[in-house]
Amino acid sequence: MNRTERAQIVLEKLREVIPRPQSELAFVDEYQLIVAVILSAQCTDARVNKVTPALFDAFPTLDAMAEATPEQVFPLIRSVSYPNNKSKHLVGMAQRVRDDFGGHIPQTQADLVKLPGVGRKTAQVVSSVAFDDDDALPVDTHVFRVANRIGLVDGADTTLKVERGLKAAIPRGTWGEAHHLLILHGRYTCIARKPNCEACPLPPVCRYYERLQKLPTPLSGLDPKKGKYYCKTHDGYFSEATTKTDRHGTEQTACPTCGSMNVFLAKTGETTKKVRDYRV
Ligand code: SF4
Ligand SMILES: [Zn+2]
Repeated sequence: MNRTERAQIVLEKLREVIPRPQSELAFVDEYQLIVAVILSAQCTDARVNKVTPALFDAFPTLDAMAEATPEQVFPLIRSVSYPNNKSKHLVGMAQRVRDDFGGHIPQTQADLVKLPGVGRKTAQVVSSVAFDDDDALPVDTHVFRVANRIGLVDGADTTLKVERGLKAAIPRGTWGEAHHLLILHGRYTCIARKPNCEACPLPPVCRYYERLQKLPTPLSGLDPKKGKYYCKTHDGYFSEATTKTDRHGTEQTACPTCGSMNVFLAKTGETTKKVRDYRV
């Protein structure tokens, strides 16, 4: 299966389980959207949605935000991450839009990234959600992880590489939809800490799942009193592990005596082998 075929099946299956692939940020117009997206950097949408009602009561328009000082904005966004920088960015963004763009949020990614607090990802979210920009496929932490896990991209270790890989595999015109589908899938099912594969429709096409199934089955009857780890290769216990990098580039626990990576936890019998995963 090539990446285009895999992507097609993934999107079809996700469409079935995620009927409304859209942003979970609450907003009513472009001004509110860009504010919410700036606030959402390194922060959850749920938290952002808690602070924006009071923020938009206090500063209902772009002009009102442009007239504000960061010190006035700060107390209203205190509970989101980086409130100090973000209050400066919000006021700076509003002033720049008022002074350089006639008070209208710019529509192109090239103009959007000129605004304080707006990087490539924020610009793409705004241009895609507000202006239906069909050139945008924003890659956030969820899209990054999920695309790598499923195998929609191959070992892409930067958001730009993930974006390019996804754009190559997914037909233009569905990039905005794909962005929301992958985010929601990552947020609720293919979660960072422990993917919920039992509730996921994608195991037949997921490379991460396939690799998980290939891990050695747990051993029974090990004696944790003899050591923390059991090396199956030389049939011995040890407690101070060394590490080794396997051929996929993943650091694995290794036996200090024979160097084998065929190691199990004596207490649970589980393999110590890890499948390569991507986090940002
Ligand atoms: S099968 Fe598991 S790892 Fe693969 S996409 Fe679904 S939840 Fe994520
Ligand atoms: Zn050994």
